[in-house]
Amino acid sequence: MAIPVMKPLLGEEEALAVAEAVRSGWVAQGPRVAKFEEAFAARVGAAHGVAVSSCTTALHLCLHLLGVRAGDEVVVPSLSFIATANAVRYCGATPVFADVDPLTGNLTAATVAAALTPATKAVMVVHQGGVPADIPAIRAIAGDVPVVEDAACAAGSTLNGAPVGTGALLAAWSFHPRKLLTTGEGGMVTTDDPEWAKRLRRLREHGMSMSAADRHAAGGAVVESYVETAFNYRMTDIQAAMGLVQLTRLDGIIEQRRALAARYHELLTPLGLRAVIDPAHGTTNYQSFWVALPEGAPALTEVLGKLAEAGVSARRGIMAAHLEPAYEGHPHPALPGTEELATRSLILPLHHELTDADQKHVVGALADALGLVAK
Ligand SMILES: *Cc1c(COP(=O)(O)O)cnc(C)c1O
Repeated sequence: MAIPVMKPLLGEEEALAVAEAVRSGWVAQGPRVAKFEEAFAARVGAAHGVAVSSCTTALHLCLHLLGVRAGDEVVVPSLSFIATANAVRYCGATPVFADVDPLTGNLTAATVAAALTPATKAVMVVHQGGVPADIPAIRAIAGDVPVVEDAACAAGSTLNGAPVGTGALLAAWSFHPRKLLTTGEGGMVTTDDPEWAKRLRRLREHGMSMSAADRHAAGGAVVESYVETAFNYRMTDIQAAMGLVQLTRLDGIIEQRRALAARYHELLTPLGLRAVIDPAHGTTNYQSFWVALPEGAPALTEVLGKLAEAGVSARRGIMAAHLEPAYEGHPHPALPGTEELATRSLILPLHHELTDADQKHVVGALADALGLVAK
């Protein structure tokens, strides 16, 4: 049995909460979604939460809300899960790839500045792998251009002493099982702006003037209208029931992941290997624990192959959209920081059942694959 790279932490409490939602007879978006929105937004320091079907749809709604359309440019990192760039294309706009700092995996004020043009309609900043990006510096450079935060990975990470999401114009979150909190599939937009929250609720639900839950509460005599062309991006109450339980686990999950990451650092430092760390301005939830391959190391696929043979399920580092066939021919500047991380780093197993023996085995297998000896 290989050591898996990630395992969602799911208990009997989640199973019971889901069963309760099913038994209640209300399975689509309803009271549990409303409760989950409130609890999650409070946890990340935002006034409003609007639950949706995924982070991908959350990102799309944010850009749609901002009026992004054909002819517009949106600055994004290429170094991200492909949904970040795709959300821009959903609006008919052009993703403009900016480079990342290879020490953090994140956009910086300098790389964003280099990508801004008069056509820039928004900047989408990713807190990559849970590492908080320096949002105040990027917002200062972006000026009047709105900054959307792709916080898919960053639940519980901190920025300048507050949870990531605090003070965000718009932040998009994911509850896919690869992330720290899961609802199977699911996402959320958080914001402090009540008008934006109201419009986002309408946009996720066909542009309806009132939600199905509101109509139900008002009794039978109310007829809704459809005030704009919108989407069905709703979360179900079954998912939200699970999310409410998951949220109670978040602090414990982060504490354990940070302890496991600290142990990895202890094991990797004597080998001279560089791995992801907290940036100066915040703390990561270590959603992804990546290690940079040293100069002269074999190709990434070879290293991954050797790890697999040793029973370690590692992954290539965070992907780069501009290197994928879907973005072939898409113009972009030189992206050295992005390419370094995408092609010369790998993600090590990190989950709640990882033992100290597992961690030693993982690092031992990596040392073997790279021909390194501890100093
Ligand atoms: C996972 C992820 C997404 C997509 O999230 P889904 O909920 O699966 O749609 C978007 N952006 C980043 C940075 C991610 O890591």
